[in-house]
Amino acid sequence: MRSDAIVTIDGPSGAGKSTISRMFASKLHYTYLDTGAMYRAVGLKVTRLGIDPADSEAMARMFEDLDLRLLPGGDDTIVLLGEDDISKAIRTPEMGMIASRVSAEKIVREKLTQIQREIGKNGGIVAEGRDMGTVVFPKAECKFFLDASPEERARRRQLQLLEKGQSVDFQVLLDQIIKRDRDDSSRDLAPLQPADNAVIIDSSKMSIDEVVNFMMNYFEKVQ
Ligand code: C5P
Repeated sequence: MRSDAIVTIDGPSGAGKSTISRMFASKLHYTYLDTGAMYRAVGLKVTRLGIDPADSEAMARMFEDLDLRLLPGGDDTIVLLGEDDISKAIRTPEMGMIASRVSAEKIVREKLTQIQREIGKNGGIVAEGRDMGTVVFPKAECKFFLDASPEERARRRQLQLLEKGQSVDFQVLLDQIIKRDRDDSSRDLAPLQPADNAVIIDSSKMSIDEVVNFMMNYFEKVQ
């Protein structure tokens, strides 16, 4: 099996991308790249500095000293901003909305795309996000688009947050998911959409293992 392929996993929020991408990367002995965590980290930094995301000069200055590091973690990627471990702070529903807001800005997309390509330049990577197969790694050998119904995604997100000790109302989560998908899909730059050659998987009625096994069979076939 190839050790230097690029695998992309795109899809809307709550479709199970993170868990599945991490498991798949581990099976292949590949690096797992959580690009949503990068957009969330930028959102957190912008919020802390009180910058208007539309102020491109202030945003450019912010990127000049952006010291962002992603380290492999147990359940979630460990995200460091300077010496500050922001892994927990970025994984709230509010930060998801803020990440979605900043991610529509040209400078944010350009800078993060550049960093992501650098990380993936030697292959051996499972890159998860919204535009991995369409914009960041258009020549990736193996592309997936993972989807599930909004209700199922809200249910899964609620369980996930509960496991982290956060109790959030189902309807609030469902409304946020629908709004975030609409914003992510309708933006001008790198909108959320499957690449032409992506394999679309609806995971609404599939277990995590079933999805990972399906991906593995497909990956082996396209080698
Ligand atoms: O995947 P996650 O929910 O952590 O992503 C947070 C937000 O970051 C998304 O709603 C999306 O707006 C943005 N994002 C993006 N492109 C990516 C990954 C995430 O625009 N590749």
